[in-house]
Amino acid sequence: MITDNFPENPYMLLTPGPLSTSKSVKAVMLRDWCTWDDDYNLGVVQKIRSGLVDIATANTADYTSVLMQGSGTFSVEATIGSVVPPNGKLLVLANGAYGNRLAQISNRLKIDTLIHDSGEIALPDMELLRSTLQQDKAITHVVVVHCETTTGMLNPIEKIGEIVKSYDKVFIVDAMSSFGGIPIDVDKIGIDFLISSANKCIQGVPGFGFVIARQGQLEKTKGFARSLSLDLYDQWKTMEDSHGKWRYTSPTHTVRAFMQAMKELEEEGGVAKRYERYRSNHKKLVEGMQQLGFSCLLPPSYQSPIITSFNNPKNDIYNFNKFYDRIKENGFVIYPGKVSVADTFRIGNIGHVFPDDIENLIRNIENAIYW
Ligand SMILES: *Cc1c(COP(=O)(O)O)cnc(C)c1O
Repeated sequence: MITDNFPENPYMLLTPGPLSTSKSVKAVMLRDWCTWDDDYNLGVVQKIRSGLVDIATANTADYTSVLMQGSGTFSVEATIGSVVPPNGKLLVLANGAYGNRLAQISNRLKIDTLIHDSGEIALPDMELLRSTLQQDKAITHVVVVHCETTTGMLNPIEKIGEIVKSYDKVFIVDAMSSFGGIPIDVDKIGIDFLISSANKCIQGVPGFGFVIARQGQLEKTKGFARSLSLDLYDQWKTMEDSHGKWRYTSPTHTVRAFMQAMKELEEEGGVAKRYERYRSNHKKLVEGMQQLGFSCLLPPSYQSPIITSFNNPKNDIYNFNKFYDRIKENGFVIYPGKVSVADTFRIGNIGHVFPDDIENLIRNIENAIYW
């Protein structure tokens, strides 16, 4: 097997994507594909598109999916820029860097935008959401991040969806770092557009993002797009009419790797099993870190099993950069903090990462805290 000749990774990525992928996901990239040929369009792209809808909901008849070139942000920008009508108004619920990015995109596109920023360590304010939707009739769309990767906070999309739907607004969710790793049924929650990307919980390599869309809503958006290459409707229409064809060059190797990653998700037992593994990783991580004297930024009830923020110890000996280098030498890359209100670092536990790896990490951290 060619996989035996792969160079070994010098370290495991404990980051929220790109993340550590299996050798078999990397191995399938060793072949070239023709973007005009059915082998690629029918054999790979269409299978991925229907497979994504199967992961996203039991009500597959009402949903469709679109793949979009670029990193996850490109798919977020494609969605916001393509589904909010010219006279629409977007309410952004933000509590971290990715929520703020939603607002930044909307403002950059000159969309009428209202931001509810609850701060980095608080959940969105449900009463404010309710009263705002009651009073501000101009709002047409509401968007929120599911797992706010800045902190690891899991936003309550079920409750938010219930309120958004009771006012009959279009509901958009950035589930970039949770889709495939946490069970979500888009139809039950009332999500009209869910955005994620190849290099997060499905455990593929970077290069494209995707949108799970309620088809009836997507069909209403023809001509709304504020960009040519990021026109979600056009991309979808081409993929539908030409059976998997992308409008412009598709990241073929990445897409093929993603199909393998989806197969491995299914072999693992689907999203429910992957969620269990991530939760085991997270539990081992937090218990181990707490034993070493580290504390978590968030209370457990806010915390996702995707990525965890730890407070940097406050003493004269500890130095994050040295700590980071020492752990990296021993085979693990962790993540600096992104929170502005606290001094933190982050450890992700998504990707081809197992509880044994976390145990190994904890042993290494024990040796790396002070030297
Ligand atoms: C990773 C991520 C994104 C997209 O980031 P890219 O760097 O563009 O791939 C968006 N939102 C969330 C919540 C994320 O975790």
